Amino acid sequence: MSAMAIELEPMALESAEGYLLRALTANGANVRDLLALRRGTARRHISPEDARLYESLTGVAASWFSCRIPTAVAGERWSELDLFGLRWRSDWTVRALYGQVCPECLADKHFARLEWDLMAFVACPVHRLLLVDRCAECGRSLMPHRPAIEVCRCGAFISRPQDNLQVADPLILAWCSWLSATVQAAIQQAPLPASPFEGLIGLSADGIYRLAICLGGGTRALRGAQLNSPGPWLATSAVDVVLQQGLAALAELECGQAPSIKLLPSSGDSLAEQAYRGVTLADRNAAATLRRRLRLPSRWRTSRKLLHRQGDLFEGWS
Ligand SMILES: [Zn+2]
Ligand SMILES: [Zn+2]
Repeated sequence: MSAMAIELEPMALESAEGYLLRALTANGANVRDLLALRRGTARRHISPEDARLYESLTGVAASWFSCRIPTAVAGERWSELDLFGLRWRSDWTVRALYGQVCPECLADKHFARLEWDLMAFVACPVHRLLLVDRCAECGRSLMPHRPAIEVCRCGAFISRPQDNLQVADPLILAWCSWLSATVQAAIQQAPLPASPFEGLIGLSADGIYRLAICLGGGTRALRGAQLNSPGPWLATSAVDVVLQQGLAALAELECGQAPSIKLLPSSGDSLAEQAYRGVTLADRNAAATLRRRLRLPSRWRTSRKLLHRQGDLFEGWS
């Protein structure tokens, strides 16, 4: 039973935030009305504790919301996130308030895809375009409290054909296509697709994403890009640059070549951090092995020796 007069069926691959915005709009309400209901929590974006409230409002099962909302869980040493049935590190994972969309998908399907919530997902494999994270008209970020899923706060249509859309790099498209298949399989509890890199068997989606970010300059590169961004958020195009460099380096390593980009000291630091903070043992070992193979020094504070070692995940990568 729903408290809303008009009940909307959610799409299987729809994001929770996107669905809520769509359901509110259909009922003549907006996100500010929803925030009023959440008074006392003082949360600006959706959180797992609110899943029951959303169920009573929309009639959609709380479980549908909870697996689509990042949930903090205690990892072995750190707080980590569960999202879409997968485990993630908590940093640089979800875009939270600062959304990104594929304008073509919005124009075709009129809902927000769940992969768009991930920082690691920067392009649409269907339309082969980089996702858009600001309004072409007013330049502001795409916040959840906009009038409708396809409309910016300035009233401009986000889904309207835009002439500044950027075609994505083939490596980025292959990565996003794999990540999309992985997220879809995980949320439907189906077997996950095989690793996109033969030398990286058994790693989580987060683990492969982190290795690419590490080789692209690491978290320092992301932090620098955020500082240089015109808005307060890390632009999709900035993540795209770091990820693209890292994926290219991983692809070269896969072919037995040395990376053609000059790896920065910050890559060594980020690999050392990932060797400690990776969400699975395979993720941590792959980062430690890669750092040794590339002889990257690190000043990361906890570059202590790993307790466990697993089979060499980079067999044949020398
Ligand atoms: Zn698209
Ligand atoms: Zn606008």
